[in-house]
Amino acid sequence: MSEQVVSEKKKKDLYNKEVLLEVKNLKKYYPVTAGFFQRKVGDVKAVDDITLSLKKGETFGLVGESGCGKSTAGRTLLRLTDPTEGQIIFDGEDITNLRGSKLRKARRNFQMVFQDPYASLNSKMMVGHLVDEPLRNYTNKSHKELREEVKKLLKRVGLRAEDYYKYPHEFSGGQRQRIGIARALALNPKLIIADEPVSALDVSIQSQVLNLLKELQDEFDLTYLFIAHDLSVVKHMSDRIGVMYLGHMVEVGDKEEIYHEPLHPYTQALTSAIPEPNPLHKKERIILEGDVPSPQNPPTGCVFHTRCPVAMPKCKEIVPQLKEVRPNRQVACLLYEEENK
Ligand code: SF4
Repeated sequence: MSEQVVSEKKKKDLYNKEVLLEVKNLKKYYPVTAGFFQRKVGDVKAVDDITLSLKKGETFGLVGESGCGKSTAGRTLLRLTDPTEGQIIFDGEDITNLRGSKLRKARRNFQMVFQDPYASLNSKMMVGHLVDEPLRNYTNKSHKELREEVKKLLKRVGLRAEDYYKYPHEFSGGQRQRIGIARALALNPKLIIADEPVSALDVSIQSQVLNLLKELQDEFDLTYLFIAHDLSVVKHMSDRIGVMYLGHMVEVGDKEEIYHEPLHPYTQALTSAIPEPNPLHKKERIILEGDVPSPQNPPTGCVFHTRCPVAMPKCKEIVPQLKEVRPNRQVACLLYEEENK
């Protein structure tokens, strides 16, 4: 079966699946303080009112320039940092305000794979202990059982059982990411948030790690939230894609549709930068003027209006809402609100 046929089949199957993660109006603000008394003078609005849902077995790609809030969104969803507002429902349970043992219990079902495997692994720990740490924390397995289980996991991610006794510095970047993946898999989680998992790796290694993640998804029945700034990588991995800009979700839709017909002007600019494999298909590159504004002082109205090539006067005043503009496609842009009146 071709890749497109497989993805169409998976798309149909996903429509019938249950929702695993539901996020409603999530905000994560960091207070900004100043002066001797450290009074609060404002907020850095890292994530500003995002709503999304992931079906079981789906890969949802979260994309945007660095600093757009996608990593903070991932960390907030996993409750690695507390949300400022909003609701996170995981597998039917509201985990937004869980604390202590209840949060700990919920956490075994969602794990994270980080961008920099070297920084995320304790260099003083033997690989076997790095991978079995979550198992030691959550189960009562004997040393022998843990050792056997970890060796099996190492082999499954493409390493050798003997690697159990080595240390992170003895591995290449790609191998270290495999250790990070084995560690994330140890508790058999339902959801993995992969935050730029291949951006620190050589291009030649990237596809091996991406293919491994794809194989593991079927085998371990995993749902992925895949965070990346590289649209080609997100396209390769995802079923659906959410595009973020300055803490806001500006477009959500099926992968093929987002790539073939981006609707939001920001998505149009991002997709125009993807190299076209067929030299006969010429496409116009949309260059955005200026830098991403500071999330401490975001523009009024539509946060993209300072860089949008088709901005209208009202874009400075009205905040566009993420709305369904066609089946399975949501866009936050006043152009489409007008169209639907
Ligand atoms: Fe551009 Fe206006 Fe749409 Fe924002 S609302 S993306 S500024 S057209």
